[in-house]
Amino acid sequence: MRKLDHNQALVLFSGGQDSSITLLWALDRFENVETIGFEYGQRHAIELDARRAVRREISRAYPDWAGKLGPDHLIDARGLKEIGETAMTAEQEISIGADGFPTTFVPGRNLVFLTLASGLAYRRGIGVLVGGMCETDFSGYPDCREAVLDAQMQANRLGMDCDIRLETPLMHLTKGASWRFAEDIAGQQGVALVNEHSHTCYRGVRAEHHDWGYGCGECPACELRAKGWVDYQSA
Ligand code: ZN
Repeated sequence: MRKLDHNQALVLFSGGQDSSITLLWALDRFENVETIGFEYGQRHAIELDARRAVRREISRAYPDWAGKLGPDHLIDARGLKEIGETAMTAEQEISIGADGFPTTFVPGRNLVFLTLASGLAYRRGIGVLVGGMCETDFSGYPDCREAVLDAQMQANRLGMDCDIRLETPLMHLTKGASWRFAEDIAGQQGVALVNEHSHTCYRGVRAEHHDWGYGCGECPACELRAKGWVDYQSA
């Protein structure tokens, strides 16, 4: 079995609130941290811009962490678009589909991402994947559940014959608690950084700034983010 380096982490980084907080956590804990993102025909290049902005601002605000922040890897996963053709990738309204899942659901997407990330980590000798998946505010994505992720990682370890593992520090935190978590790791400055530069809105709106960050304020992602911010502020 191939032994990978468990002092090195590869963060699944979308530029959203959860993965940005997860990146702060990883930088606090590991010696070397790289990031991986997936281009799969997102409607909004804005998501990819947010990734660059969050990385840049972290490096600027935390010189100690800047030295640990390694390369960013952007992987072409546009084949998912052909499978999904859901609201995330095609011009379609976001709602709950006949299968009971939001139309933003791309079946199996997180499993594909985990496997691609495991493959990249293997190539680079990195032993720990870090993801912002969370089942507390479960929004209809079965492949964010801990049991599903554990099963996929077991398959990846066997299939790649290596000792890679996955850390999901936000798994059991509410959105409000995850802001508190960010504050504990990176202070008010970290919270402000994630608030300002991460992107959550499904509609890709960045024109309007709210207390909780940018977004349309009406889509399910914005509603969840706004509610989490209120919970954090009132805790
Ligand atoms: Zn929105």
